[in-house]
Amino acid sequence: MARQTDRIDLASSAPGTNRHLLVHCYGKPGSGPKAYLQAALHADEWPGIMAVHHLLPLLDAADAKGLIKGEIVVVPYANPIGMDQRIGDHVPGRYAFDGSGNYNRNWADLVGGAAPRIKGRLIGDAAQDVETVRAAFREVVASQDARSEVAQLRKVLMGLSCDADYVLDLHCDGEATMHIYANDRHRDIATELCLDMDSPVLLIETTAGGGPFDEANSSPWWRLGDELDEAKDLPHACFATTVEFRGRQDVSDDFGAKDAAGLYSFLCRRGVIDDVVKPQRDETFTAFLHETDVMHAPKAGFVSYALEVGTQVKAGDLIATIIDPVAADPAEARTELRARTDGIFFARVDTRLAAPGVTIAKVAGKTPLAHRKEGALLEA
Ligand SMILES: [Zn+2]
Repeated sequence: MARQTDRIDLASSAPGTNRHLLVHCYGKPGSGPKAYLQAALHADEWPGIMAVHHLLPLLDAADAKGLIKGEIVVVPYANPIGMDQRIGDHVPGRYAFDGSGNYNRNWADLVGGAAPRIKGRLIGDAAQDVETVRAAFREVVASQDARSEVAQLRKVLMGLSCDADYVLDLHCDGEATMHIYANDRHRDIATELCLDMDSPVLLIETTAGGGPFDEANSSPWWRLGDELDEAKDLPHACFATTVEFRGRQDVSDDFGAKDAAGLYSFLCRRGVIDDVVKPQRDETFTAFLHETDVMHAPKAGFVSYALEVGTQVKAGDLIATIIDPVAADPAEARTELRARTDGIFFARVDTRLAAPGVTIAKVAGKTPLAHRKEGALLEA
């Protein structure tokens, strides 16, 4: 069955303007596992768009050979509103200019709406119960109000993803090695994804917190049991992940082709495509979020990094120096930031002028860190 490409118009936000999403669909709904991929939800994170650009021909070829056994839904750019939010020639991304906040936070919670819809309808047959729950999720999303253009965008994306077996949300960091976020309940699948994608770091959360898109899709499967006894044994039927495709400037055909090959391999591994699995590495470094050190700028100043991302570090190693040009004595201008755990220095900011409190570095470690908070992603 040939690829179907749909255009979904968003509500016009001002007279004379219109934006739309493209949605590419492969396979047949219900014929096998459903995978959903979207790129650049944060609008200023484009490596995932490049990966999708290189993935589509692979999917077209697989489709032509009849290898697609499930359903694949691809949104090549998930946030045309954010990509059009410009200040001069800069696309700041991340936050909606309409005041509704971070594009990847506070996604609608499906649990409250779904629980009454499935009450008394689960029969203890996993496959059938999963379908019952997915139908409820679709109803919940369809019933959502979407008054603004941003709300409509959210509703469309969640409507496409909420019944998927696999949700891959493609992001990037400032400057970083590839790293992947997933829930502890899906650690095995996430590890396989890391090997397929050549991701050296896997970050595991028990509760991500903040309502990111991936967790909004995956966590209802285990949180429904808090509302309904009969839902306690539901399978964790949606593996949802945030894939951080290195740094914001790592947009190239070479990276795109490599990342597309990784995504394709993962889709084969999970039986969505009947083709050969080709992992790109043998192992990955796995850390819980509370084992991942997040270093903040203690004051305003210029940032000089001592190390490149991807470097193995020991606690005490110098990561960066913040230089305060306001200090009268240059000798007193320098504040050193040192690793507080052994591990991998995997991400750093892509500006060199830091405001106080800005995240300067992330180091994935192997031991819990007392200063890290659970359920706040890597933001606290
Ligand atoms: Zn992002």
